[in-house]
Amino acid sequence: MTMNGEPGKQQKYPQWAPYVLIAILMAFVYLAFQQAPPLEPSYEIPYSQFKELILKGSVDEIQLSGDIAEGKLRSTEAIGPQGETAQRFSTRIPPFGDETLLPLLEAQGVEVRVSGETGKRGAIAILLSMLPWLFLILFFYWVFQRTSRALGGRVGGPEELKKFLETPARKAEVPEVTFADVAGQDSAKREVTEVVEFLRHPETFLELGAEMPHGILLMGAPGTGKTLLARALAGEAGVPFYSISGSEFIEVFVGVGASRVRHLFESAKKNAPSIVFVDELDSVGRTRGTGLGGGHDEREQTLNQILAEMDGFSGHEAVIVLAATNRPDVLDPALLRPGRFDRHVVLDLPDRGDRVAILKVHTRNVPLGSDVDLDGIATGTPGFSGADIKNLVNEAAMLAAREKRNEVLMRDFEEARDKLLLGTVRTLAIQPEEQHRLAVHEAGHTLVAYFLPYADSLYKVTIIPRGHALGVTQQLPEEERHTLPEEYLRDRLAVILGGRTAEKELLGTLSSGADDDIQQATTLARAMVARWGMSEDIGPVDLRESEEHPFLGREIAQPRRYSEHSAEAVDHAIQTLLREAEQRARTVIRDHKAELERLVNALKEEESLHREQIEQCLGPVDRHRSLVAGSD
Ligand code: ADP
Ligand code: MG
Ligand code: ZN
Repeated sequence: MTMNGEPGKQQKYPQWAPYVLIAILMAFVYLAFQQAPPLEPSYEIPYSQFKELILKGSVDEIQLSGDIAEGKLRSTEAIGPQGETAQRFSTRIPPFGDETLLPLLEAQGVEVRVSGETGKRGAIAILLSMLPWLFLILFFYWVFQRTSRALGGRVGGPEELKKFLETPARKAEVPEVTFADVAGQDSAKREVTEVVEFLRHPETFLELGAEMPHGILLMGAPGTGKTLLARALAGEAGVPFYSISGSEFIEVFVGVGASRVRHLFESAKKNAPSIVFVDELDSVGRTRGTGLGGGHDEREQTLNQILAEMDGFSGHEAVIVLAATNRPDVLDPALLRPGRFDRHVVLDLPDRGDRVAILKVHTRNVPLGSDVDLDGIATGTPGFSGADIKNLVNEAAMLAAREKRNEVLMRDFEEARDKLLLGTVRTLAIQPEEQHRLAVHEAGHTLVAYFLPYADSLYKVTIIPRGHALGVTQQLPEEERHTLPEEYLRDRLAVILGGRTAEKELLGTLSSGADDDIQQATTLARAMVARWGMSEDIGPVDLRESEEHPFLGREIAQPRRYSEHSAEAVDHAIQTLLREAEQRARTVIRDHKAELERLVNALKEEESLHREQIEQCLGPVDRHRSLVAGSD
């Protein structure tokens, strides 16, 4: 929330204010009791008696205020109901008026004073009648203050409360940032350019009956520029940007989140074409029913409101809903269903080249010394996100400013980097020797995939951490496969084991990094043996340990239906398959050691290599990849 922790919010209503108010009220009460009863006794007398007294000439003076006349006699008289004597009296003048009264008073020479509609006593009476209300208001104010203080000063006072309930979202403006401010992230940008076109000219799309996807989910590690990309998308298209952050939904009052969503979509539709951006979607969109502690109901209401709004699009509103999350794994499946956030755009941590580009963007307005080498900085910051790099530049500029220099030098950047590396646990900083091992491991996968004839062709290899994997070798099947031929599966096993084999061949030792690989390979080998009958020793027998449930799509534990002996044979066959695959990987690696080393160096240099770069590095290979069996 923007109201969070702004200094001076508490000072507006000083702590002693309620006490002063109480003091003032007590003074009022005191005055009221002080002035109300005159010290001399006074009686209320009937109007008729009052008239008689005037006629008798005993009235000295009267004061008229409203319909009450208070007066004083020339001397004490027995005017009390039991004949008590007094000099003061009061009476009520009949509401229909008495035209004879004033001439009479004049004739008798009575001093007449008239005060306003409500006299002094009337005013006090009114104040007294207001007193309970004042106390009530004061009490509520006090409770409110206490609550807001307990909530960490989130809500400062009545005006803030009003603002807080009324403001549905930040004012929508067209952001100034464009795609030029987003460095790297080419594939993400490519995926959303279509949306930009649509937002620029929605009529052309709608005339053709083309429907745009309404929900796009941006996924990526913190600081990879999800928020930035969303804003840039609106800026590029020149449409208003309605943004709300998931954490703002979890509010003090139930229902506020949902009503904000409603307002947000209302104004977005009114100003279409436009973009609605839900940042930090995971904080509202977590799988329902797993809420721990408070805020759960609120989240559910808000989430339901988002879903209802998205379902409410009739297909020809030019409103695009973007959402960002760094935890796509915890999102409620309802959010990802068709018609909702069914388009996914992944933002990766930047590789070296991208880091150079990001550095360029953020040093645009920074005076750099002649020794500053952006390439060198990028090389020294593996695993840094875009936000980390922005931070780095800022930190370096501050170091230079502290020394009153007017240029930022290379050593500022180095010092800033060391400071950030020490200070952050979040950054996945990779040590040089670890990076070398990582490069060897991924290069091993890549090399084996490249030279084995039936393996899927390579798409990209990277040693930039992503999720909990430290490096990734991505392969793309050439064609859609419905059945998996044996040669393909055997090559695949070799590729999976290629990483650790390369480590062993080049470095002499293994590491724990191959954990996932071994598990993957074993699962695949088990399926080959026990389900697909691809082992000579076992033959075509179904020896599955469990069965995949046709509807649930996951394995359910079931009693084993085969003998101990068969189980042993299966284990043995799996081992044979894996050993054979390892041997094949080793052969490829030994035959192409020079290429492997080239690849390792290129990978360390560039951090991620695309298909063409891999081909360039490894040289040509003639692969006959026409598979006879299975592929059509
Ligand atoms: P996220 O929303 O993914 O956590 P942000 O969009 O908030 O990340 O990024 C934080 C800041 O980091 C941005 O404001 C921007 O200055 C910088 N940044 C991140 N990625 C990039 C990038 N690709 N190019 C330029 N700046 C970037
Ligand atoms: Mg963000
Ligand atoms: Zn691996």
